[in-house]
Amino acid sequence: LFNKNLGQHILKNPLVAQTIVDKAEIKPSDIVLEVGPGTGNLTVKILKQAKRVVAVEADVRLAAELTKRVLQNDDNEVVDTKKLEIINGDVIKLAKLPYFDCCISNTPYQISSPLVFKLLFNNSNENGGFRCAVLMFQREFALRLVARPPNDQLYCRLSATVQLYAKVTHVLKISKNNFKPPPKVESSVVKLVPIHPRPQIKFEEWDGLLRICFNRKNKFIRNNFLNKKVLDIMYKNYLTYKSLTNNTGGSGNDNDNSMDQDVVMDVSGIKEIVETVLKNLNYEQARANKLDIDDFLKLLNEFHKHGIHFS
Ligand code: SAM
Repeated sequence: LFNKNLGQHILKNPLVAQTIVDKAEIKPSDIVLEVGPGTGNLTVKILKQAKRVVAVEADVRLAAELTKRVLQNDDNEVVDTKKLEIINGDVIKLAKLPYFDCCISNTPYQISSPLVFKLLFNNSNENGGFRCAVLMFQREFALRLVARPPNDQLYCRLSATVQLYAKVTHVLKISKNNFKPPPKVESSVVKLVPIHPRPQIKFEEWDGLLRICFNRKNKFIRNNFLNKKVLDIMYKNYLTYKSLTNNTGGSGNDNDNSMDQDVVMDVSGIKEIVETVLKNLNYEQARANKLDIDDFLKLLNEFHKHGIHFS
């Protein structure tokens, strides 16, 4: 019996399983991270191509079943059991992911978004990062990951943020009858290839800006920024940054004008800056669903030039 809370839908079609594994273009020297191996339908195929597989499985029962399957070699496939390491646990709760070159996962849908972020911000792959991730998601989530402006209805904060860090492509559609038990919705496989060099941007700043812009993604971003709560937050951030940059511990650089520079504007000053920034970029009538990553980077940069921060 499968545990619905763990999103257990076993991929029963071996051809589909092979196609997914092939999309990762595994090299014989690769270490592959598999998230949620379940009974191992993908695992046995990955083991044939990779140097090593590290599989993280939350369900102890399935982890044991997988060990047994590989040991007994039920598939009549020559598999070196020493190539497989199973970590029993919740992948999201791991402090650090093990080193990997590729990640393959028929992802339990409950952890779709956290898994994508865990992979992109994983801290054990500093030396170059991973090469690719081939991940199966519910169709709509997959389509949101790949959605692009200006005309894609599914384009959202998730799309822009993931695409800032990775090239995302839709590689396969998989219908629900390939699973046991069949899920309620259709699935898709996407491929993520991290962008090198990694954008040198503070994630919290990017995320803070996009949360405001996508708050109502079909409306003018101007209205989102001029919302009183948003202005208040920007004002607070402004004051924090101002105090941080002014109190640098007395450089001895006494300047007669320092009093002028310390004049702190009030929240209406933030409103003026918003208008100026949007005007400078010609964004007075811009809407989040029409802006691409470069547009958002320009916007963030322009705000920073005016001392406005989002984290
Ligand atoms: N890979 C198998 C296949 O394709 O047939 C099973 C895929 S099934 C959709 C998802 C698997 O992920 C299940 O085995 C489930 O127990 C496991 N799982 C669920 N949540 C998890 C988590 N947070 N960390 C690790 N594994 C998890």
